[in-house]
Amino acid sequence: TIETKSRMNPRDNYRLILFPHPFQGHMNSMLQLGRILYARGFSITIIHTNFNAPDPSSHPHFAFRSIADGIDQSEASTPDVRGLLALLDVRCAAPFEECVREMVSPRGGGGGGGGGDAAPIACLISDSMFSFTSSVAQRLKVRALVMRTGGAAFLYVATIFPVLKEKGYVPVLGSQSEEPVKEFPPLLVKDIPAVDPQKPEVMFRILDNLIAVIKSSSGVIINTFEGLEHSDLASLQEALSVPFFPIGPSHRFHVASSSTSSLAEDRSCISWLDKQPPKSVIYVSFGSLAAMSEAEILEIALGLADSEQPFLWVVRPGSVRDPKWLEKSPSRFLEALEGRGKIVKWAPQKEVLAHPAVAAFWTHSGWNSTLESISEGVPMLCMPRFADQGVNARYVSGVWRIGVHLNGGLERENIARAIKRLLVEREGEEIRERALVLKEKASASVRQGGPSYQALDALVSHILSFK
Ligand code: UDP
Repeated sequence: TIETKSRMNPRDNYRLILFPHPFQGHMNSMLQLGRILYARGFSITIIHTNFNAPDPSSHPHFAFRSIADGIDQSEASTPDVRGLLALLDVRCAAPFEECVREMVSPRGGGGGGGGGDAAPIACLISDSMFSFTSSVAQRLKVRALVMRTGGAAFLYVATIFPVLKEKGYVPVLGSQSEEPVKEFPPLLVKDIPAVDPQKPEVMFRILDNLIAVIKSSSGVIINTFEGLEHSDLASLQEALSVPFFPIGPSHRFHVASSSTSSLAEDRSCISWLDKQPPKSVIYVSFGSLAAMSEAEILEIALGLADSEQPFLWVVRPGSVRDPKWLEKSPSRFLEALEGRGKIVKWAPQKEVLAHPAVAAFWTHSGWNSTLESISEGVPMLCMPRFADQGVNARYVSGVWRIGVHLNGGLERENIARAIKRLLVEREGEEIRERALVLKEKASASVRQGGPSYQALDALVSHILSFK
């Protein structure tokens, strides 16, 4: 295959164990990292949870081992993302350790066996959202790197979270405080991850664990690039004293790829886009986790109708609380608009963003979506909901100035106004010009000799030095 031919210097004695977090955005990034490192000659074993398991047939060059996380259907479909995060962290620790122990044991041939993954293990690369991986690696004497699938700015916010807390900047859930965080312009208090006043320790623990796992690692692979986040990357290196390897946007590395999505992509939206005029469509998607109330969905529908612009809207089945809504309402709504819109349950997002008909992206500002939009020079309308999204969105609108916030709340008038601001008005054109400059920087960074390409070279040398 092309993939095998383009593989550089197979290093058959270097197996990497990758341990992705099962949330879609995290899984995509880790599988892409696996493909990049496979192309650089490493053998790859993926240890994954049963929950949201990847499809091995899409990745014939990897070995797969699954661990029993014990997450049942109702736990998996909870809208409490933080709760699920914490549960996964607890449930995966023991089975993960057992799996790695078996792989490193002499009986397992130093590299397992049975799973087609017998080469000796050079190191473990685990998602930063698991808190137990570095202690497992220490006990089993395996070197450990961490993969951070978010941006540098948010990670820096996590690093200084105790200071932000002490100064009273940490908001409670639902806060819309516009107070500036003086020590960290242009952030506002509402951009910082909020704590649940009933159980504030949950958020503090998540962030403490994140920083601890990074500090005890042998290095951090991060999906961003120097041209985007130079100063936050420098602050992180200094604050955490571990080497950082910014290899983003990792999906732009030219390696043979197949879909990493665990949901079926509805490709009919591409032929629909083919029929739309250039730079005319607003693409609307809020990622793989965010859930909406029926009232919110209705307001979005009305806002899109009022904007008078063509739209492509992803309504993921899990994002609406009443699944019947998705079976009946969209077609009636679209009929009323006489074909001006298209609704799908899941889209091939990277391809959509690269399509010439797409003018802007209304997003929840998840990091992958943000980086994918930057890579295609698509201006953003930001509607952050939780976690790192507030920080990502503030950088989009206030630092890189390649998008705007949805101001004034999720109401039809605000939506229609914001969409027109990006698609019709002069301001939108200026934003697009800046977005195109950043797109060029993103592609240059993964080209041979570019900063992310060099970071990848450095990462490969770093891993080879472990033996
Ligand atoms: N995505 C997709 N199709 C969709 C919606 C999203 O392929 O219809 C992908 C998107 O390309 C991105 C990921 O799902 O890689 C979402 O990750 P992100 O970090 O933006 O948000 P999260 O889902 O973690 O909130």
